[in-house]
Amino acid sequence: MKLSRGKAEVRALVEEARGRGASVGLVPTMGYLHEGHLSLVRRAREQNDYVVLSIFVNPTQFGPGEDLESYPRDLESDLELAEQSGVDLVFAPEAEEMYAPGHRTWVEVEELTRGLCGRSRPDHFRGVTTVVTKLFGICRPDRAYFGQKDGQQAFVIGRMTRDLDLGVEVVVAPIVREADGLALSSRNVYLSEEERRAAPILQRALCEGEVTVGAGERDAEAVRSQVRRRIEGAPEARVDYVELVSTETLQSVELIAGEVLLAAAVFFGKTRLIDNVIIKVP
Ligand code: AMP
Repeated sequence: MKLSRGKAEVRALVEEARGRGASVGLVPTMGYLHEGHLSLVRRAREQNDYVVLSIFVNPTQFGPGEDLESYPRDLESDLELAEQSGVDLVFAPEAEEMYAPGHRTWVEVEELTRGLCGRSRPDHFRGVTTVVTKLFGICRPDRAYFGQKDGQQAFVIGRMTRDLDLGVEVVVAPIVREADGLALSSRNVYLSEEERRAAPILQRALCEGEVTVGAGERDAEAVRSQVRRRIEGAPEARVDYVELVSTETLQSVELIAGEVLLAAAVFFGKTRLIDNVIIKVP
C-alpha cells in the first residue's frame, strides 16, 4: 500500500494502474476509520482492480463554529486499517495541497441541498460537492463509494455526477451500525457515557416511524411528529430536524407514496448525529 500527500503523484500512480488495464475504485473519507468506512473499502475491493482511499478533513464543508479543529484524526491507525482492508493507495493531502491560494471555483447542486442538513449547514454541501469533484478529477475513478449513512450527501453526489456527466459510477452502501443500532460515525467518540447510552433512540425512533408507515399511515406529518416526540422523550436529545422527503427531489412530502427518506439530525450534548431510513410504499 502506498501513501501519497500530493495530487500529482496520485494522478501518476492512478494513470500507471490504468495503463496496466486496472479499473479504479475511490472511497472518499475524512479518516478516523471505522467499520462503516471499511465496508465501503471492501465493496470497492470486490469491484475494482485498484482501490484509492482518500483521507481529508475538508475545511470547506465545515461551517463557522463547527468541529473542524476538533474533528478526530489518527492517520497511523487509519493506515493500518486501510492496509488490512486491501487499499492500494491512500491519498491524504494537506488543505494547502487541495486548495491552492486563489481557489475560486465551487460546485453547487441546487434545491436538493436546501432542506434537511442544508438548512442548519448552509455551505456544507457546496464544500462536499466541490471536494468530491476535485477528488474525481485527481483520481479519475471508474466507481466511487459512499454510505447511505449520509443519505442526503449520497443523493446529492449521485445527482451532481449525472448532471455534470462526470463518468463515475456512484455506489451507495448500507449503514453499518453498533449492536444497539447506533450508526457508526467518527463523531461518536465525542459522546459522554450518558449521551452514548441515549443515542440509539435516534435509530429506534426512525424504525418505529417505518413500522407506522408499514402499518398503513400515509400522513407524513403524523410520522414526523411521532418520531420527533419519541426522540424528545430522551432528555439528552435535542432535535435539529426530523424530515420525510421524496428520494427524487429531497423535498418534504405531505402524503407518503413511492420511495421516501425518513431522516433526522439530533444533538446529544454538543454532538450532532444523523441517521435515516429509506421507506418504499407499494
Ligand atoms: P466520513 O469520513 O464521515 O466523511 O465518511 C466517509 C464515507 O463513509 C461517507 O460516504 C459516509 O457516508 C460513509 N460512512 C460513514 N459512516 C458510515 C456507516 N456507519 N455506514 C456506512 N457508511 C458510512
